[in-house]
Amino acid sequence: MKNIEKLREIISDAGRIFYADSIDQKYLSDTLGRKRGSASALVFVKSTEETSKVLKFAYENNIPVTPRGAGTNLVGSTVPHNDAIIIDFSQMNHILEVDKENFTALVEPGVILQDFQKFVEAMGLFYPPDPGEKLASIGGNISTNAGGMRAVKYGVTRDYVMGLELVLADGTVLEVGSKNRKDTTGLDLKNIVIGSEGTLAVITKCLLKLVGKPECSKSLLICFDSLKSGIEAVPEILRANLNPTALEFIERKVVSLGEKFLNLNWPDTESKAYLLLTFDGEENEIVSSIIKLESVVKKSAKKVIVLEDSELSGNVWKIRGCLVKAVEAVSEQEPLDIVVPISQVAEFVNYVNQLEEESKMQMISFGHAGDGNVHLCVVRGDRSEAEWQKELEENLEKLYSQAHKLGGLISGEHGLGVSKREFFFKETAAQNVQLMNAIKSAFDPKQLLNKGISYTI
Ligand SMILES: Cc1cc2nc3c(=O)[nH]c(=O)nc-3n(C[C@H](O)[C@H](O)[C@H](O)COP(=O)(O)OP(=O)(O)OC[C@H]3O[C@@H](n4cnc5c(N)ncnc54)[C@H](O)[C@@H]3O)c2cc1C
Repeated sequence: MKNIEKLREIISDAGRIFYADSIDQKYLSDTLGRKRGSASALVFVKSTEETSKVLKFAYENNIPVTPRGAGTNLVGSTVPHNDAIIIDFSQMNHILEVDKENFTALVEPGVILQDFQKFVEAMGLFYPPDPGEKLASIGGNISTNAGGMRAVKYGVTRDYVMGLELVLADGTVLEVGSKNRKDTTGLDLKNIVIGSEGTLAVITKCLLKLVGKPECSKSLLICFDSLKSGIEAVPEILRANLNPTALEFIERKVVSLGEKFLNLNWPDTESKAYLLLTFDGEENEIVSSIIKLESVVKKSAKKVIVLEDSELSGNVWKIRGCLVKAVEAVSEQEPLDIVVPISQVAEFVNYVNQLEEESKMQMISFGHAGDGNVHLCVVRGDRSEAEWQKELEENLEKLYSQAHKLGGLISGEHGLGVSKREFFFKETAAQNVQLMNAIKSAFDPKQLLNKGISYTI
């Protein structure tokens, strides 16, 4: 590509710049590696200044750009389009400040979630967002508005972003948001960028909100005879105002996959389905929440197992956390993260089970019962490529349309990427898509950032 060699004038360190054929294939895709794009260069930036210069260079030369965090997305949102320049943030990974007075932290986008969580917890502080993949970057989490296990009590990533340093497609650097807890000062640009999957601007600094670290936390497993009775118990638990930190549902057959994958044991083998809960806070509050919970599920559950042993509790959460990878190890799959109103979870999961039976395509469901986010792995099995593509398309159509009927949405936390665009366009009013693209044009008039991803036309 004309001019691309000139990038070396910005990134002079040979170990931080790669051209076309020398780019490792993993950078041309997402974590599943099914969809691949093309890139003319891959650069590992170290500062806002470098990022701005790379973007300015791309802008002047009309070259598309793909920002990249840890590449753990499941929807193809880091698939570079049209010989793009990939800007990788993994080397911008410093925690710049923790402000204990204002309960904030300023970090670079490449900081890894689990490192950040550990760092602040050692200071008696707590960063609540907790998506299943702990090796994702903070910049990626913000760009996808990542949700995860603790969303039921604490909310999602958006709720913990106070400010951002952004670089626009033409290289302009700006700050949005601040350390202030309230803000009615013009349009909320920060919130438009959060969850925009790298389509509006590139994030180079993140000002995050922290809370005090809970004194302790305890998980427990509620065992049921059927998934139906498990899911039907969720509204009762929520109505009892028990405020769990996490509230996940999972079927026994799915647990078995996780046990095998990690060679770990789950503390019950006889039940058909489980709710996995965590409470956090002060010890005495947790004890009384558990007592109340036991009485709420007395009729519907077979038993409640309090995971007192921290190793056992850790293993149960490891099994819950590995499920996407455990299914992937057995067969190709399409991971979905449909979200429906909490009151509709049982009805939606019943529909999934019926469709699984009718279509003979395995559909493994588990997920965040407390916030209506149903994770579904639609499994290929031994279908030929043509059969898989045809049947998958038919079943996705049915699943998304049923979710839509129940008032749900295509994605609760993974984003649209390239995998879900088609269904998003079908189910979103044309004027909404138009407005989204008008906003894109205001941020990125040449349409260079992540074109072809998410809502972009
Ligand atoms: C096993 C497993 C479990 C998962 N569980 C969850 C879960 O519970 N909840 C959940 O929400 N997600 C989950 N995910 C999905 C994934 O981890 C999240 O989407 C995560 O937020 C992506 O972060 P990343 O750093 O890997 O970003 P990437 O995959 O690198 O990028 C994701 C998107 O963000 C953009 N981006 C990245 N960095 C920047 C930046 N600095 N500036 C602008 N744009 C940027 C990219 O262009 C892309 O569009 C899971 C994934 C796996 C593999």
